[in-house]
Amino acid sequence: MSEPGSTELGDVPIAEFRSQLHLIADWAADYRENIESMPVAPTVEPGEISAGLPSSPPEKGESFDAIFADLKNIIVPGVLNWAHPEFLAYFGCTTTAPGVLGEIASAALNINAMTWRTSPAATELETVVVDWLRQWLRLPRTFGGVVFDTASISTMHALTAAREEILPGARSRGITGAPTLRIYTSEQGHSSIDKAAIAIGIGEENVVRVACDENFCMRIESLRELIERELATGMKPLAVVASCGTTSTASVDSTAAISEICREHKIWLHIDAAYGGGLALLPEEKWITDGWAAADSLVINPHKMLFVPLDFSVLFVRDLERLRRVFTLVPEYLRGDTVENERNYMDYGLPLGRRFRALKAWMVFRTFGRIGMAARIREHLRLAKLFAEWVSASPNFELSAPVSMGVVCFRAIDGNATDLDIFNSEIVESVNRSGRAYLNQTKLRGRTAIRLGLGNILTTEKHLRDGWELIQETARSIASERGRKTSPRRL
Ligand code: PLP
Repeated sequence: MSEPGSTELGDVPIAEFRSQLHLIADWAADYRENIESMPVAPTVEPGEISAGLPSSPPEKGESFDAIFADLKNIIVPGVLNWAHPEFLAYFGCTTTAPGVLGEIASAALNINAMTWRTSPAATELETVVVDWLRQWLRLPRTFGGVVFDTASISTMHALTAAREEILPGARSRGITGAPTLRIYTSEQGHSSIDKAAIAIGIGEENVVRVACDENFCMRIESLRELIERELATGMKPLAVVASCGTTSTASVDSTAAISEICREHKIWLHIDAAYGGGLALLPEEKWITDGWAAADSLVINPHKMLFVPLDFSVLFVRDLERLRRVFTLVPEYLRGDTVENERNYMDYGLPLGRRFRALKAWMVFRTFGRIGMAARIREHLRLAKLFAEWVSASPNFELSAPVSMGVVCFRAIDGNATDLDIFNSEIVESVNRSGRAYLNQTKLRGRTAIRLGLGNILTTEKHLRDGWELIQETARSIASERGRKTSPRRL
């Protein structure tokens, strides 16, 4: 072993690196094998982790053993274990063995996929993997895709392309003096749309929220009326963002109907299928893709439903050249590494340096295949529906939204209206504090709902049943602590 703090040059000797890699590999496998013995949420207070770490940077190098010990003793006990099968928040978690292997391999290669020449294999694999995904999503060949880190970034790029379409030359001259540009999405549309509007000079106040129906889907007639009214006042519709799988309830807007309005008024249609897009892999759920072919762009996050670890988002654009035209810019120092007629992914967005994200997706997609992924998603849908049945059968809880994917929103219904919101929040907070499961809460029609998301490959019916028992038990204990009058709906 080289001395910690030695002033020798060069990297850690290869023999040491090899044994450290084995230790980390064993640690990762142990973490995954024993994850159920750990609490889902840590029991740390804010500031506790940093208090255990030196506040000044290391002057001399330290041994791997010391660093590894701190990883195990300070860092790991302070993480929320997203990969835990009782982590039932957000959309679950997409850690998978092939995904972890892909991340390790890509870390070892550490290539930069900015142009074809800076990494021919990363560029071409990205094109191949994105095209596999295009086929699974049943998008026509006229769609091309680019990998980004997150849906927020993908959507920002889509809306920038839309901005160029409506204001040709905005890329060069900016949008000073342009008419007010408006973006329409439903009340349930994701906040990434507002953030994109902030970033690309549209302004968050110009994101117009269209009312939803009782199933949390955009009201098509309201969209039509709104657009017509705003056009009459001289505003310019920039884009409509339809959601396929909203964050709170996984509701799906009627993309086919929205696309007709967009076609009529020549408005860019962007589909936020960040979560729900994965459903397209199931032949029986083909309905989800209705209207997609008529869109201008679509974002899907395979890190939400398709078992690829965070982060991996794909933006598809019909005629991808429209995206390239907005972002291509070749600095002189990169000219030698830019091959004409080859895909240089730096041309399709803001990031110049790009991680080799396609590698992990390729490993996941090949390991499970479409059939394997579809079977696992189908099981998550079955579990979500089963959980919804338990909720519906209980006199003390009710569903807050229809269940169409791996998301269930529900609430305890025992008590008066104002108090109930607090009661439901307390249930979530108490379950999360217990370390035995982890949930979210959301607001639906102004009321607090408990939200459960299924997406973890390790979550089984037993985990779900244990989670449901915990929720009921927690509700009962909070109710009895408060001396709540529960009759006739005694919890
Ligand atoms: N769209 C939807 C429907 C989402 O649920 C989310 C995040 O949960 C996003 C977009 C943003 O995704 P990201 O975290 O990849 O930016």
